[in-house]
Amino acid sequence: MSNDINSEGGGVVVTKLNDLLNWSRLSSLWPMGFGIACCAIEMMGSYASTYDMDRLGVFPRPSARQSDVIIIAGTVTFKMAERIKRLYEQMPEPKYVISMGSCSNCGGPYWQHGYHVVKGVDRVIPVDVYVQGCPPRPEALIGAIIELQKKIEGESLVKS
Ligand code: SF4
Repeated sequence: MSNDINSEGGGVVVTKLNDLLNWSRLSSLWPMGFGIACCAIEMMGSYASTYDMDRLGVFPRPSARQSDVIIIAGTVTFKMAERIKRLYEQMPEPKYVISMGSCSNCGGPYWQHGYHVVKGVDRVIPVDVYVQGCPPRPEALIGAIIELQKKIEGESLVKS
């Protein structure tokens, strides 16, 4: 991106369409308002005033059809896995998944004896970024958002 500040009355920005699209997408990530266990409390804390993810352009939407990110925050039981898959399929492309916390990453404290727990949400839907911890702090989730933004920055939606 470059600008010409010599123009009368303001600057001219020259950029590629792909860069512009990526910049707008990564600056307005809208996660689905959805949580399934204790990790979701930390996710809600991340949206609140202390951490204020709005300043990154991130705020939750009430519908899968309006969301481009789903944060899997909590224990994924086999009963819930079917619902998660359905919600993911309702999201428009391009869409992204953040797996937040040990339960979602690998089954967490239930990985050995939790007969009812899926040993990682990536067995149900594809995951873009994993956040470690039980539970991860809001700073870790914000770090995952920044990682996702870097990934989007390198994508190409425009066919050359
Ligand atoms: S990773 Fe820990 S805090 Fe998060 S849902 Fe599992 S048990 Fe709860």
